Amino acid sequence: MAALKASRVIRSIATCGWRSQSSQATAALPKSKHATGFSFELTEEQKEFQATARKFAREEILPAAAEYDRTGEYPVPLIKRAWELGLMNTHIPESCGGLGLGTFDACLITEELAFGCTGVQTAIEANSLGQMPVIIAGNEQQQKKYLGRMTEAPLMCAYCVTEPGAGSDVAGLKTKAEKKGDEYIINGQKMWITNGGKANWYFLLARTVPDPKAPTNQAFTGFIVEADSPGIQIGRKELNMGQRCSDTRGIVFEDVRVPKENILIGEGAGFKIAMGAFDKTRPPVAAGAVGLAQRALDEATRYALERKTFGRVLAEHQAVSFMLAEMAMKVELARLATKG
Ligand SMILES: Cc1cc2nc3c(=O)[nH]c(=O)nc-3n(C[C@H](O)[C@H](O)[C@H](O)COP(=O)(O)OP(=O)(O)OC[C@H]3O[C@@H](n4cnc5c(N)ncnc54)[C@H](O)[C@@H]3O)c2cc1C
Repeated sequence: MAALKASRVIRSIATCGWRSQSSQATAALPKSKHATGFSFELTEEQKEFQATARKFAREEILPAAAEYDRTGEYPVPLIKRAWELGLMNTHIPESCGGLGLGTFDACLITEELAFGCTGVQTAIEANSLGQMPVIIAGNEQQQKKYLGRMTEAPLMCAYCVTEPGAGSDVAGLKTKAEKKGDEYIINGQKMWITNGGKANWYFLLARTVPDPKAPTNQAFTGFIVEADSPGIQIGRKELNMGQRCSDTRGIVFEDVRVPKENILIGEGAGFKIAMGAFDKTRPPVAAGAVGLAQRALDEATRYALERKTFGRVLAEHQAVSFMLAEMAMKVELARLATKG
């Protein structure tokens, strides 16, 4: 009996979609002027972005994903298409020709893209990470120059913070920038940089105070660095376990000259800018994980409704239906935790 009930739930998830059930339930509620509690209803614009991203992910990313994952080839046609559809660079302010969408909107889009392929989604998402320091801390001239060009063509950028010896411990980074006249000379090595070999420009965090004991709010400075600056050596593409079409590389900076106009805010402001960029771009990373989990659930459900053993589909075996029901609960919980 319990198995039958569970398989019915699973079937309805597979055919109707968990989310559409939730919104039907919301629509059935009586409307009150003085309603209390949370509303999860999306705006018309949000629904439109979500639907566009869902259609693109299911009709264009999904059929191509396995081949990109196998070859590790950078998904240029998909990136161009995402750019045309307005699903990329969504945070760029309207003053620079962008859409000026918020973090929640980015989460809605990213979840859908990740359903198709998290490699493609990571490549697209890393643009927002690279742009965010300029969005939150760039002056008008910097924003127009570096964000503006990304609304004119499907260009990539990257966020260069991690180093071989500094990952979670960002304050341990050793790349240094020394002021010489009107320029800074940058020397150091970055690691695990998404879009590293494809970027048109980088956000780079470097130490401008050599004393390793200097406090983080004085020691680090954020720079915008043109990717074609002399002295930049781009390493080999890393062979990642997953998200294999995303371009992840080490980059060496050797006597790279950056004009002082390319500093964000001023010397010493870099650490706060780098962390502030995470605040706005890590929630979409979590939303990407939800998209991937939803896809895993959908694939598992499809298979469980297709494959028969001992005269019945897998979903009608109690242990399997319980597993699928638990997965469905956890995916929905993760979605609420990410966007709630
Ligand atoms: C595919 C991919 C793409 C990436 N893209 C970028 C990018 O575009 N730009 C960029 O700058 N970086 C990027 N990174 C780097 C990423 O941000 C770092 O890998 C991450 O910060 C972790 O650093 P780490 O790998 O050096 O691990 P470590 O910091 O060495 O951590 C190793 C382990 O120790 C644990 N640990 C660390 N500190 C603590 C602590 N204080 N307490 C308890 N446990 C701890 C960690 O949880 C982890 O399990 C990317 C990484 C990957 C894998």
